[in-house]
Amino acid sequence: MNKTEKPILVIGGGISGITAAVEIAEVGKEVILIEKKPYMGGNVIQMNNYFPKLCPPACGLEINFRRIRQNPRVKFYTSSEVVDISGEKGSFLVKLKTEPQYVKDICTSCGKCVEVCPEERPNEFNYGFDKTKAIYLPHEMAFPMKYHIDEKYCKKDSCNKCVEVCEYNAIDFSAKETIQEFSVHSIITATGWQNFDANKIANLNYSEFENVITNVEFERLIASNGFGSNNLVRPSDQKTPKEVVFVQCAGSRDENYLSYCSAVCCSASLKHALSIQERYPDSKIKIFYIDLRVAGRNEDFLNKVEENKNIELIKGKVAKIEEIKNSKNLVVEAEDTLLGKKEKHEADLVVLATGIIPNEPTIKLNKNKFSFLNADQKEGIHVVACCKKPMDVSSSVKDATAAALKAIQ
Ligand SMILES: Cc1cc2nc3c(=O)[nH]c(=O)nc-3n(C[C@H](O)[C@H](O)[C@H](O)COP(=O)(O)OP(=O)(O)OC[C@H]3O[C@@H](n4cnc5c(N)ncnc54)[C@H](O)[C@@H]3O)c2cc1C
Repeated sequence: MNKTEKPILVIGGGISGITAAVEIAEVGKEVILIEKKPYMGGNVIQMNNYFPKLCPPACGLEINFRRIRQNPRVKFYTSSEVVDISGEKGSFLVKLKTEPQYVKDICTSCGKCVEVCPEERPNEFNYGFDKTKAIYLPHEMAFPMKYHIDEKYCKKDSCNKCVEVCEYNAIDFSAKETIQEFSVHSIITATGWQNFDANKIANLNYSEFENVITNVEFERLIASNGFGSNNLVRPSDQKTPKEVVFVQCAGSRDENYLSYCSAVCCSASLKHALSIQERYPDSKIKIFYIDLRVAGRNEDFLNKVEENKNIELIKGKVAKIEEIKNSKNLVVEAEDTLLGKKEKHEADLVVLATGIIPNEPTIKLNKNKFSFLNADQKEGIHVVACCKKPMDVSSSVKDATAAALKAIQ
């Protein structure tokens, strides 16, 4: 490695950003990896399992976390965001803002602080279905394995209980936000995606009815480390649902909301249906779809679903969801377009397969507002994976590896 060579910056610590970072570091280049959350792993770390092999997220991510830990060429910053970029390919100047690190790296994750903390916050890792204390470990596989303090809920010095109990003096309320500057050779942006806001879909009543949830929320409901602690439970009464309806293309391929197909939602719902059946073989599942878009190795799911007598695939768009007052069960109204019949179906839980919205990172570059999506016109900046367009993990990893190659050339 040429000692005068500048590092490469990777923005986003999901599977794509992590892949790009370790690939770059393992060919001998320096890399700086930035993640805005307190932990790495992106959306994949919140999943129950992922297709096509249905491995838990720990499978693919833990090995990558180890590759980061073992490689001194990767410098990583969590709770951090790039606030300004100037310069050109070969010499970008990047300004990085990092939130105050109230919990220092010497934290051993003993958990005594959590025992004494009196304040609670909604657990964003489980989409607010449950709560954590104001000082919390984001999840049991968190990388870095370090407690974090939610500023919005912590009373800091006026409480001080966690400081008093910490034997390692790992908590410091005087910590301040920091700004650092780096000179980097090129930039990879892997800022990923967010779920389409289901509140916007008027006829599906997501905001009104507790037992209407989204597909990403479902991942946290069925995950062994999720809201139901290894039981699939519905939000209203924590009972295991017996009849579950999946609504495909919820807001997708619809000019009023998202006009495009998110490519992964059909495979995700088939995966979800099979996960329910595996754990609760007597459950009944209905999947309403416009047309099923399942490609490659995920076609196996479709075959398995078609063979399963407790999973019904119904071609038809859901027109309305209503709630039965006392039971909080749902009534789903849809037309079966193959039979030409409009029918009502009762369910304990309805899962909306909402689509993917690329997290388009917009940053000030050379004092102008600059969208990374136009970055192809800007040499030295490479946009990868889901912040460009929806794709699955395997395609994201390939895209990230390709970007790593371009960046080091
Ligand atoms: C319901 C559902 C189920 C799915 N199931 C599967 C599956 O089983 N198998 C599969 O292959 N795919 C699945 N997918 C798709 C999969 O989630 C994506 O392929 C994957 O998340 C892409 O990874 P990524 O790193 O590009 O993005 P992300 O996972 O979104 O990671 C991006 C990271 O960048 C960070 N970030 C964002 N903005 C900034 C910023 N400005 N500065 C710093 N950091 C930032 C984010 O916090 C995040 O950590 C599913 C998708 C959905 C919707």
